[in-house]
Amino acid sequence: MRLVLVGPPGAGKGTQAEFIAAHLAVPKISTGDIFRDNVARGTELGVQARSYMDAGQLVPDEVTINMVRDRLAEPDAGDGFLLDGFPRTVPQASALDKLVADLGAGLEVVLELVVDDDEVIRRLSGRRTCRGCGKIWHVEFDPPVREGSCDRCGGQLFQRDDDKAETVAERLRVYARDTAPLVDYYGAQGRLVGIDATGPVEDVTLRAIDALR
Ligand code: ADP
Ligand code: ADP
Ligand code: ADP
Repeated sequence: MRLVLVGPPGAGKGTQAEFIAAHLAVPKISTGDIFRDNVARGTELGVQARSYMDAGQLVPDEVTINMVRDRLAEPDAGDGFLLDGFPRTVPQASALDKLVADLGAGLEVVLELVVDDDEVIRRLSGRRTCRGCGKIWHVEFDPPVREGSCDRCGGQLFQRDDDKAETVAERLRVYARDTAPLVDYYGAQGRLVGIDATGPVEDVTLRAIDALR
């Protein structure tokens, strides 16, 4: 299955992507994770992306689309994929339509995680990520047993720089301006399925899987 997850920063895309991708047995492709990995390794792509990410802005479409084109050409994406965090602009969405058409396929479903702004801010302000395995935690809603340390791998948890309050406000503005129009774009294609993404993580996963049947 070729699936896209959309929703505001903090909606739970990364959290759900992991479970949904495992359920569908397709690779999870998160553009945010790929950018952060490149920033950490100091690659040319990371150097290009960093200033935008730190400012809560989107990395330019051309850079992002080239990166996704390369990733989708890898063999593990041949039988389907779950995109988390891409597309985020209408030009990215139309580029993706062309990329999948070139694969002789089409996107099947765009799953929208619906959460209001207050909840998004609560989720982002408490988000912590494991340096070792990338697992996403929350200080209040999904805390690890030992504070600051990942239950799964023992790695150290950190707060993303762009989850600081000032940057969060800018990211929400960018979402409303550049990404929310995708709801109409995919709605017009008849591919959009919206689900309520509030409540326990497991309940949201069940709603997502149900919506995909
Ligand atoms: P969140 O899910 O919290 O919004 P992500 O991890 O998806 O955050 O993205 C973090 C940052 O990486 C974004 O704010 C942006 O700077 C960059 N980024 C990720 N995906 C894209 C994309 N598709 N287009 C442009 N920039 C992106
Ligand atoms: P170069 O070989 O000079 O990096 P490319 O034509 O390969 O140039 O890519 C153009 C730009 O897009 C590069 O500057 C690079 O940072 C970025 N880019 C696109 N896709 C990727 C990728 N998969 N890995 C690394 N960089 C990428
Ligand atoms: P996104 O990828 O959309 O930015 P994340 O998956 O990183 O969102 O989730 C943002 C924060 O919200 C994380 O700290 C995560 O633990 C927490 N979270 C995710 N889903 C839920 C949920 N259903 N209820 C409460 N908190 C959640």
